[in-house]
Amino acid sequence: MHENMKRFLWIFAAMFFAMTSEALAQDVDMVIPVPEQVIPGEGVYRFEESPQITFRHSKKMAPESYRLEVRKDGVRITSADDAGAFYAQQTLAQMISEDNGVKEVQCCVVNDCPRFSYRGLHFDVSRHFRSLDFLKKQIDAMALYKMNRMHIHLTDAAGWRMEIEAYPKLTSFAAWRPQQKWKDWWYGDRKYVEEGAEGAYGGYYTKDQMRELVEYARQRHIEVIPEIEMPGHSEEVLAAYPELSCKGTAYSQGEFCVGSEETFRFLETVLEEVMEVFPSEMIHIGGDEANKAHWKECPKCQQRMQDEGLADVDELQSYLIKRIARFVESKGRRIVGWDEILDGGLAQGATVMSWRGEEGGIEAMRMGHDVIMTPGRYCYLDHTQDAPFKEPESIGGYLPMDSVYVYDPASKTMDLPGRLLGIQGNLWSEYVVTDSHAEYMYWPRALAIAETGWSQPERKDPADFSRRASGAVARLKSMGYEPFDLAEEYGERKLAQTGLDHKAKGCKVLYNKPIQKWYPAAGETTFTDGIIGGWTYSDQRWQGFLSDIDVTIDLGSVQTVSYVGGTFMQLKEPGVFMPQKVDIYVSEDGESFEHVAEVWNDVSVNIPDLLFRSFDTICDVRARYVRYHAKRSTMRGFLFLDEIVVN
Ligand SMILES: [Zn+2]
Repeated sequence: MHENMKRFLWIFAAMFFAMTSEALAQDVDMVIPVPEQVIPGEGVYRFEESPQITFRHSKKMAPESYRLEVRKDGVRITSADDAGAFYAQQTLAQMISEDNGVKEVQCCVVNDCPRFSYRGLHFDVSRHFRSLDFLKKQIDAMALYKMNRMHIHLTDAAGWRMEIEAYPKLTSFAAWRPQQKWKDWWYGDRKYVEEGAEGAYGGYYTKDQMRELVEYARQRHIEVIPEIEMPGHSEEVLAAYPELSCKGTAYSQGEFCVGSEETFRFLETVLEEVMEVFPSEMIHIGGDEANKAHWKECPKCQQRMQDEGLADVDELQSYLIKRIARFVESKGRRIVGWDEILDGGLAQGATVMSWRGEEGGIEAMRMGHDVIMTPGRYCYLDHTQDAPFKEPESIGGYLPMDSVYVYDPASKTMDLPGRLLGIQGNLWSEYVVTDSHAEYMYWPRALAIAETGWSQPERKDPADFSRRASGAVARLKSMGYEPFDLAEEYGERKLAQTGLDHKAKGCKVLYNKPIQKWYPAAGETTFTDGIIGGWTYSDQRWQGFLSDIDVTIDLGSVQTVSYVGGTFMQLKEPGVFMPQKVDIYVSEDGESFEHVAEVWNDVSVNIPDLLFRSFDTICDVRARYVRYHAKRSTMRGFLFLDEIVVN
């Protein structure tokens, strides 16, 4: 206990003195995550040169929980464990303000305990390598906001990032590529180069560096969970060791050959070395997005399926995951994987990270498994956090901090036998080249993840959180971080915030071509509900088509029509394009239609940025029916339309 106490004080002192002399408006009303209970007191406690803090142990308290008492004569912290005492200090650190050079804290009592045991952030160090200093800096901020898991995605096609003694080519070759930007590499020839080759870009961590990270995190009550991808996302491994692929040749596929025993020797050896460095109970084995086509053609994979009585390639993937799960368990650990590990049968004892929505997680919990929720719609921090026109290039989407905050991981999991361990925010770094850009993407959205992971839902309040997050942004800046500045937020498209009233609002729409399954939005009411689409086609306001859009609106009665128009979006990379042209027709009886406008596209398909363009006409006609026909682009991508405005 004495050693521990020294450690607390050391960490506390480091944070205490790291604070700038700038006066930050802080008190208990600013704390993130919002505590379970705060009882304000009278007066303040003033810190002298050595803070008077006493620690007490209580066996009755829950893990990680604490009681923080600030009185005029000192500070008392009570907790069941070191983590609780540590979190009490994080609360205290967020409450200290400075008055004429004297640091002080408002007197109060805080009783606090976490909602979930898993409060994680994910780091993709494969697409772009991150410095060790960057990772430590993020650990400091995570600790301040009581997050306790760092999931580090160490391997992927774009580069292998951890030294493995048995397979040196993973770091002397598979960790390096000729292009710096992932995008240039991905849309180029996707090759690797030898370490030290001219222009070689990439990097890897030595085992000692990873041990250093694990220890740094441990001191701040954060566990580092390593991820080694399998069976897919492994192009870099197969380029270095082609014998592990079905065809035995480099650059032929991204999936390990599951028929080959050599594959299992490789994976088990790698995992053994990884587990030697990372003491975490959970070992992440990826499992996502495998292209199983090669296995259908491979004699070894086919033989394996026959020998093991596997019905299809999903079961073949499941065979690999289950076998690896048993291996990991034999070492006293357990696996966690992305929700695709459900395909073909879930391995016993596996924890599921649900990313393609919540369904995978719900299914796993139904079967009694542990689950971590990280659905893309709320937890993928690679989406842009503000209006795309003012933000750095990103993978697309739109996920401002407020939208992360409203998510409740437990809203659909009541009464299921499995355990909901918690929540994680993920930052895939395809478009995130530099450390400072990554930091900008994490903060302040990670604060929303932190509060959802820690605070009870009834304590959460979006408006109040927004206020506290602005304070946290100022604080993070004063500590040398580069968060997104909430004061500069533009927000959602203006019309998407207000909606739009017009003549066709609420009118019936007849689909001359059927609605398609991928992006139905609100179905048949989408184009006349007055709801305008936002910055992303995935916001369930935009209806998506891989065909022409051809609809007829019934205004209910013959009336004067002076305007007809609809807005489309273009986003080149995922293949969203303007229509070639739009034809607009009107009719009084619904049988004979008059062609009133032909509006051609004048937006180049080569513009990479997100843009919107209205295909509309001003007219002077009488009509009950308005037909709007958008011809699909020759680029053969998606058409997205949110509303057809008639006035
Ligand atoms: Zn094979």
